[in-house]
Amino acid sequence: MAKICVIGSCSMDLVVTASKRPQVGETVLGDNFTTVPGGKGANQAVAAARLGAEVTMIGCIGDDFYGKAILDNFKRNGVVTTYVEPVTYAESGTAHIVLAEGDNSIIVVKGANDHVTPALVERALDAIRSADMVLVQQEIPEETVSYVSSLCHSIHVPLLLNPAPARPLSEAVIEQAAYLTPNEHECSILFSGMNKAEALRKYPGKLFITEGSSGVRYCDGEREVLVPTYQVEAIDTTGAGDTFNAAFAVALAEGGSIQASVKFANRAASLSVTKFGAQGGMPMRAEVEESL
Ligand code: ADP
Repeated sequence: MAKICVIGSCSMDLVVTASKRPQVGETVLGDNFTTVPGGKGANQAVAAARLGAEVTMIGCIGDDFYGKAILDNFKRNGVVTTYVEPVTYAESGTAHIVLAEGDNSIIVVKGANDHVTPALVERALDAIRSADMVLVQQEIPEETVSYVSSLCHSIHVPLLLNPAPARPLSEAVIEQAAYLTPNEHECSILFSGMNKAEALRKYPGKLFITEGSSGVRYCDGEREVLVPTYQVEAIDTTGAGDTFNAAFAVALAEGGSIQASVKFANRAASLSVTKFGAQGGMPMRAEVEESL
């Protein structure tokens, strides 16, 4: 069983569907309200656990109702929560999502996710040291991402850095990460002075650009490779990247080759888009293996 540590955000998505979006000062009636656990860190932790890894989550929640629901969701999915710390000085992270008129508008309140500090990471050092792979995203402070990157480098634990949402990274962090997995937009922000082909050539075997329904592009040292994803009827692509990253980390941590790991991750991510919700569509290990 691969051991994975995910260091990142946990939040609750509060989703309203309505036929009309309110104008400033207006009140409208909504049709439906649901709460669904989210946050890129939590999504990737849940996806990796469903794919059979032993997953430890390192993050922060508020000492509140949503925090308890986030913890319950981790437990239901078999994610170890020893290092999911409840803090009293911030609320759990929330995303306030309005689905109306065929589009969404979202307000994110980072809350406790802003308190995922280097000190919290330090407290989880034993778990990190024994991991086969560490996964990190950018919904936590930049300082913590830099700290994780140099820590993993110094203790020789491979780091998969998913640079989402888009934010520039220092050269040192790029060098220290074992794998970088931006989507096309994030890639253009990360390597703003280079085109895609130049960036791929500069980071062979490290940079993997996810290209939605086309698949994943990387450089094997000699040439650019596009690994096509599976053709599916996409219902909801929310969380496709999260499933891809988790599955890629699990397959690599189990010792899979790059080619086989990308294929496994494409399969898992393509299955995830056939159902509603980020976590709703994340497949179990058997579903992926049956359809590879
Ligand atoms: P993000 O969700 O982070 O924006 P992408 O849209 O690039 O990332 O999707 C990540 C991965 O999910 C893709 O590389 C692919 O494997 C899979 N994927 C996304 N959309 C589809 C789709 N419509 N059909 C099949 N696979 C998809």
